[in-house]
Amino acid sequence: MTPEPSSPEFPPSAPDLLPERLFPTLTSDHISRIAARGRRRPVAAGEVLVNVGDKAIPFFVVLSGAIQAWRPAEGAETLNRTIRASQFTGEASLMSGRRSMAQLRVSEPGEVLELSREDLLALVQTDAELSEILMRAFILRRVELIAHDLGDVVVIGSTHSAGTLRVKEFLTRNGHPFHYVDLDRDPTAQELFDRFQVTTNDVPVLICRGSAALRNPTNAQIASCLGFNEEIDEARVSDLLIVGAGPAGLAAAVYGASEGLDVLVLEANVPGGQAGSSSRIENYLGFPTGISGLDLTGRALSQALKFGARPMVAKPVTKMSIDGRRYTVEMDDGAHASARTIIVATGAAYRKPGLHNLSVFEGAGVYYGATPMEAQLCVGDEVAVVGGGNSAGQAAVFLAQTASRVHVLIRGEALAETMSRYLIRRIDENPKIVLRTRTQITALEGDRRLERVQWRDERTGANEAHDIHHVFMMTGATPNTAWLSGCIALDDKGFIKTGPDLSREELEHARWTLARSPFLLETSRPGIFAVGDVRAGNIKRVASAVGEGSIAVALVHQVLQTL
Ligand SMILES: Cc1cc2nc3c(=O)[nH]c(=O)nc-3n(C[C@H](O)[C@H](O)[C@H](O)COP(=O)(O)OP(=O)(O)OC[C@H]3O[C@@H](n4cnc5c(N)ncnc54)[C@H](O)[C@@H]3O)c2cc1C
Repeated sequence: MTPEPSSPEFPPSAPDLLPERLFPTLTSDHISRIAARGRRRPVAAGEVLVNVGDKAIPFFVVLSGAIQAWRPAEGAETLNRTIRASQFTGEASLMSGRRSMAQLRVSEPGEVLELSREDLLALVQTDAELSEILMRAFILRRVELIAHDLGDVVVIGSTHSAGTLRVKEFLTRNGHPFHYVDLDRDPTAQELFDRFQVTTNDVPVLICRGSAALRNPTNAQIASCLGFNEEIDEARVSDLLIVGAGPAGLAAAVYGASEGLDVLVLEANVPGGQAGSSSRIENYLGFPTGISGLDLTGRALSQALKFGARPMVAKPVTKMSIDGRRYTVEMDDGAHASARTIIVATGAAYRKPGLHNLSVFEGAGVYYGATPMEAQLCVGDEVAVVGGGNSAGQAAVFLAQTASRVHVLIRGEALAETMSRYLIRRIDENPKIVLRTRTQITALEGDRRLERVQWRDERTGANEAHDIHHVFMMTGATPNTAWLSGCIALDDKGFIKTGPDLSREELEHARWTLARSPFLLETSRPGIFAVGDVRAGNIKRVASAVGEGSIAVALVHQVLQTL
């Protein structure tokens, strides 16, 4: 089967990273189509076309001569590639508008075709064949950088620090390559830290682009140092503002941008949402062998970028205000963004059991997602998975591949009412998985890392202690709607009510003044829509989130036509 053009597998297979795939040769017909949007210019040997760290990088096709793509790596390897006649420069940063990871220097004089990022975006939106060739090469080049740790970031951390997992997750889920130095295995790094009085609370330290050394940085600090976000123009009123970049928000971004809307996406953390933390989604249409959440949502993000959506990461929205038919949101850094319509796609947050010291172990023994990153931490160990839903079932089956034993703890008598049959069967058939019904965790113990777990069998009242260092809390979620602070109608659990679910009283209370009733996914405020897990009555699935995100865009068009 031919792999999809813009979606190489991660990790890549060896043939994906063959030079002819990474650096394809364009035909003369391709080049003349690109030339229609660019300008030809001579280049001299030694001329630097792009420097490491430059933003708004141009795209070059070599017509004659050669360009060297080079960067000194923080890790063991150095990137050094030569781009020859009929080949082209660029990787994923070019599409996302992020900083260049490499220097482009003319190694043999000749002639190039140069396109600005805007011209390149216009090209890939209109020329399907070139879009396929370029997107594939850009993504494979990024995958190669990640596979060889060839980034502009070094993370020096420890498996005992929750911050390390958070930072690694933030970089990984943003598709940003980094080199990792484990303090627990590298005594020289520890010695260096001691000399510079780097304390336990300062770990991890992130060396950003070879200069800034950030101690236990927030995600927003990392995003700012690496230039993940464009400047937000507060005076600009977008057609559509999407809050949340899980599957629902990303689907809305893809459909909105591809249909010509000016789309801004604000994401509190990283794109992908809950789905991004799923090890393998097996019931999403079109992926018979399953797909990791990271891979699926990474593809969606590339697609949204290709159509010109503007996603911002580490930008939690904290407030919304309404001024006539213009909506303005405020972010936690005080920045504002305005739009004529809003799609709320903020999903849900993990429900946490009431254990007093839970936060001490979050990321250091207690996890809310089971991806290959967490699985790596517990190879050969016993683990506990708490919860009886599909996410718990998937986590148990996935972790059983590498853990020595997986205890699944549920409060109920059986899984039948809460979990899909295929997962129940896999759990039953897997000798490494032990299902413990009517069992609840009562205590977590350890110093800075989880060392022991106590649970109680509700039938007998007996407490048991187990030397388990990893607990996966997969206990469902509550909606992320606190930031809406009374602007729109919610149900009694805090989910957003939409369309026909809104009562006459709720609409009167919200001062709904239009002659028409709210559209299907419209909230009690005209032009504000809610999609995905955050919406009351939503079926909590990736497919329904994606479906609702795309339907909402059709309704956004109808609202915009009446403004
Ligand atoms: C481990 C796991 C496995 C799963 N497996 C499957 C599966 O196999 N099949 C399936 O169909 N479903 C699965 N699900 C459910 C599925 O992932 C969700 O239904 C889906 O992700 C919902 O998408 P969403 O976009 O509505 O919300 P979310 O995925 O929750 O995304 C919401 C996004 O909004 C952001 N956000 C929140 N508040 C703010 C704010 N104030 N400002 C800005 N951004 C904000 C969040 O950071 C998040 O990125 C799984 C869920 C989990 C947790």
